[in-house]
Amino acid sequence: MIAANDPGFRAALDGLELVDHPVQLKQRSRDFYWYSPILKRELDGKAADLIVVPKTIDEVVRVASACARFKVPLVVRGGATGNYGQMVPLQGGVLLDMARLDRTLWIEGDRGRFEAGVRLGDADRLAQDKGWELRMFPSTRRQATVGGYVCGGAAGVGSIRYGQLRDAGSVLALKVV
Ligand SMILES: Cc1cc2nc3c(=O)[nH]c(=O)nc-3n(C[C@H](O)[C@H](O)[C@H](O)COP(=O)(O)OP(=O)(O)OC[C@H]3O[C@@H](n4cnc5c(N)ncnc54)[C@H](O)[C@@H]3O)c2cc1C
Repeated sequence: MIAANDPGFRAALDGLELVDHPVQLKQRSRDFYWYSPILKRELDGKAADLIVVPKTIDEVVRVASACARFKVPLVVRGGATGNYGQMVPLQGGVLLDMARLDRTLWIEGDRGRFEAGVRLGDADRLAQDKGWELRMFPSTRRQATVGGYVCGGAAGVGSIRYGQLRDAGSVLALKVV
């Protein structure tokens, strides 16, 4: 495996927003795993070698492609509110920070389409502007993202009445890279 700071790999990411400051790498490679004494012991000190912040789907594809070609581990970061270390890079590599893929594409009637980095709180506020609301959300909704909730969450406020994420009707479609 080659390191994420290999010159060839960095050249493949030319023009993308990159973060490699050691303090940022450490801070942004953590979720709430430290709630668990076992995970705290196992995950403390784990960090990415490089953060990439894509602004378009094409940039996501570019990063995924470069990581595959250069065999660099890739972990996706939403709002980093998961409790189990799901987004902590275990073997360094790239942390793909979805914070700037945050466009709400549309909300029409009782459904909406969102980029993965949209904060659930923003999605809910925009839905409420149109007379609707999210039918379930975690208590972390101000920070958590649509993509992180779908990939790492399960249920939340509203689930007693409307069910869980895995139930029919909660997620209607996904575009996956
Ligand atoms: C106090 C507290 C309360 C919580 N309450 C709930 C709750 O009620 N219900 C619940 O389900 N969860 C809950 N959680 C867990 C967590 O907040 C939610 O699951 C949240 O939705 C995760 O979203 P995130 O954007 O922070 O994801 P992250 O923590 O960033 O990521 C979660 C997982 O999804 C992956 N991921 C993130 N974005 C993408 C993407 N775009 N594409 C592919 N993979 C991606 C990550 O790699 C990781 O594996 C709680 C957590 C805390 C700390």
